[in-house]
Amino acid sequence: MADGQGAVGEVRIKPDRLHTFTMAICRADGSSEQEAKLVADHLVLANLFGHDSHGVGMMPHYIQNTGTGACVRNHHAKISRDNGAVIVIDGGAGYGQVVAKEAMDIGIERAKKNGVCVVGLTNAHHIGRIGHWGEQCARAGMVSTHWVNVHGHKSLVAPFGGAEARFTTNPYCTAVPRKGKEPIVLDFATSQVAAGKVRVANNKKIQMEPGLLIDAAGNASTDPGVLYNAPYGAILPFGLHKGGGLAVICDLLAGALTGGKTHSPRTIKEGTDIINNMLSIIIDPASMGGTEFFEDEVENFITWVKSAKPQPGVSEVLTPGEPERARRVDREKNGVPIDATTWQQLIDTARKVRLNDVDIPQMADA
Ligand code: NAD
Repeated sequence: MADGQGAVGEVRIKPDRLHTFTMAICRADGSSEQEAKLVADHLVLANLFGHDSHGVGMMPHYIQNTGTGACVRNHHAKISRDNGAVIVIDGGAGYGQVVAKEAMDIGIERAKKNGVCVVGLTNAHHIGRIGHWGEQCARAGMVSTHWVNVHGHKSLVAPFGGAEARFTTNPYCTAVPRKGKEPIVLDFATSQVAAGKVRVANNKKIQMEPGLLIDAAGNASTDPGVLYNAPYGAILPFGLHKGGGLAVICDLLAGALTGGKTHSPRTIKEGTDIINNMLSIIIDPASMGGTEFFEDEVENFITWVKSAKPQPGVSEVLTPGEPERARRVDREKNGVPIDATTWQQLIDTARKVRLNDVDIPQMADA
């Protein structure tokens, strides 16, 4: 049941209830208890961190894809190529929340043994917020960097200087563990915005900021509908030629190097499939400058960085990962805001998987 009204057209749901509801939908759709828990853990944490584009709003898409077979329930990661410190893991279109976790488990174990492990995860269904995988490695004391591409659906992001989309939002992440503290987690889409944020704006029927989107003619646009109504426009890459270049590198490393395939006419489909490939490099600090040195230098440097006088209007210099944790504190306390369209889509999805009516929260109960 919805726990309260937020802003107009929005409900606020306590995280544990959102978790129970998400898990119940996944279970009713045929996922195992463990799979449903991993999916709900991941999506609700994305909401708590403020990345609603990668939160429970993905559930209708996931259930649509389990229905078509584009996402395979109860599937596990399989090593398809094993060179010790370099491994390729086939996701088999299984739930990304399951196969990416399993791939990181294997990569962490190998990195502890060899000092480093390069993991190519191929053909995983949507692996969600990439920071989740960096955080898993950081919890094990590992530094990790992750390069991701996306295929299986239409192109969304224009290359730098292009008026037409040629790839998708290709995320990049690096996570650095800290002794006794939360890790540094830099995690972003190489597009100006994640596609899910355009979806959320489209659901909310609000315009986006200038500088993020172009229409089908390549002109600047603030209308999220350019991604949903033909003739399609595109999202711009972030950071001009530098971000545009990073987006290209993500496709080359995650798609060409791992064997998972790039986003191109060979892999583009017109449906709702969403396949991620990820190149992860997992490094044990003990194998390089030594753990003690590393931990001390990280603290030394981060303290130095954060000591910079903030610019006018900025309260504090933050390190990557801090904004997400601040949002989590707020949302744990005040509930997760879900826009009305997304909430209705979740309820419709619950009905679709024939979740018992008494387990379906109603907006009217707010
Ligand atoms: P974003 O633009 O919000 O950037 C987030 C990053 O910037 C975080 O590391 C955050 O800590 C840091 N940051 C933000 N404000 C900061 C500040 N003031 N000081 C210091 N650091 C700051 O992220 P995004 O591009 O919208 O991506 C959202 C999520 O979408 C990410 O988790 C990404 O992995 C995910 N994503 C996934 C896919 C996929 O195919 N699976 C595709 C695209 C994006």
